[in-house]
Amino acid sequence: MDFRFDSADERFRDEVRTWLAENLTGEFAQLIDKGGPGREHELIPERQAWERRLGEAGWIGLGWPQEAGGRGLSWTRQVIFAEEYARAGAPGRVGHIGEQLLGPTLLMSGTAEQRRRFLPGILAGTELWCQGYSEPDAGSDLAAVRTRAELRDGEWHVTGQKVWTSLAQFADWCFVLARTDPAAERHRGLSYLLVPMNRPGVEVRPITQLTGTSEFNEVYFDDARTAAGNIVGAPGEGWKVAMGTLAVERGVSTFGQQMGFQREYDAVLSTARDNGAIEDPDIAARLVDAWIGLRVMRYTALRTLGAAPGAVPGAESNIAKLLWAPWHQRLGELAVDVAGPAATLGGRGDELSDAQRLFLFTRADTIYGGSSEIQRNVIAERMLGLPRG
Ligand SMILES: Cc1cc2nc3c(=O)[nH]c(=O)nc-3n(C[C@H](O)[C@H](O)[C@H](O)COP(=O)(O)OP(=O)(O)OC[C@H]3O[C@@H](n4cnc5c(N)ncnc54)[C@H](O)[C@@H]3O)c2cc1C
Repeated sequence: MDFRFDSADERFRDEVRTWLAENLTGEFAQLIDKGGPGREHELIPERQAWERRLGEAGWIGLGWPQEAGGRGLSWTRQVIFAEEYARAGAPGRVGHIGEQLLGPTLLMSGTAEQRRRFLPGILAGTELWCQGYSEPDAGSDLAAVRTRAELRDGEWHVTGQKVWTSLAQFADWCFVLARTDPAAERHRGLSYLLVPMNRPGVEVRPITQLTGTSEFNEVYFDDARTAAGNIVGAPGEGWKVAMGTLAVERGVSTFGQQMGFQREYDAVLSTARDNGAIEDPDIAARLVDAWIGLRVMRYTALRTLGAAPGAVPGAESNIAKLLWAPWHQRLGELAVDVAGPAATLGGRGDELSDAQRLFLFTRADTIYGGSSEIQRNVIAERMLGLPRG
């Protein structure tokens, strides 16, 4: 298999690099290495402005079809953009939930009217979204969702509680999995609703995390309303639509994520060289292991992409998650071990060192986006054909 990019793709890489170098300047220079998992609280208005700058320049929705306002670029070019974006240390996106989850869902399952209404705001970086799936008693077992919605007087009335809703405090809209037919079998009674956040009946309560900051929230809906047409798929088809969203959750973004991991790894390595920790044979061996792990992830991702270019990732995305989440947790542990006693000092939130933040936030990696146990179940049952339970 040839892992190289052709010369036209390399010219595209130059274009991306140049644009990022020219635009991560002035007011946006402060955004370098800000935002993203564990740092979502940082510089929100500035990152919202950056989102709009990306939108103006046509860097959002690169793979979406042109008739939907995207650029219809190949997966190779999307990978290149994701890699260069991360290599430049460009900020964690505040619009990624709309771009990577809701947009593709509307492209697959939305009506023409819904695409006309919602895609332009995502592409322009002006409307932000959050994902309202999990509830206090419905996480891995998502079909246990109890938030309910009823169609009355031309509107859906939504009541219930969501939890762990990332970036809800900044979102304009939420895609909500709600029970619309309590009598139906549990997977069949669910619907996928698009609910505005800045209306009466929606309350967002930030949750303080280990890091001392709040990236996710509790969201309470108390007779919150949304128009009758803001349902994706038919009533009762919400499970099918939601599973489509989860399937697109991990695709091209994997490559940008790996480039971000490389930057974190380089920082840990550099500290180990500076403070002499690298002389410790155990630390040196763990640094080598981490380097190998990064290569394994990259070649696995490239092989997946090469096997079915452009396809929606299936169980391969479960393998990728099972590789990166524990790897990233180990990197967090290595970061604090390399920092030594200094890693025990320091405060919370903005005062955390990079090593502390990496260590603390990566505890969540094996939980969100489907826990490692759930990834193993999916691989066992759907790929290997092993019996359930
Ligand atoms: C940082 C972060 C951001 C998140 N953002 C969002 C968001 O934006 N929107 C959203 O809807 N949700 C979000 N989540 C929620 C996330 O999807 C859930 O936490 C996850 O699905 C696990 O559900 P749970 O927390 O209810 O744990 P549970 O499902 O209660 O699981 C508890 C433990 O039991 C294990 N377990 C459960 N079922 C099985 C099984 N069948 N076999 C073996 N082991 C099992 C799990 O692996 C886990 O270890 C986020 C979570 C985190 C940590």
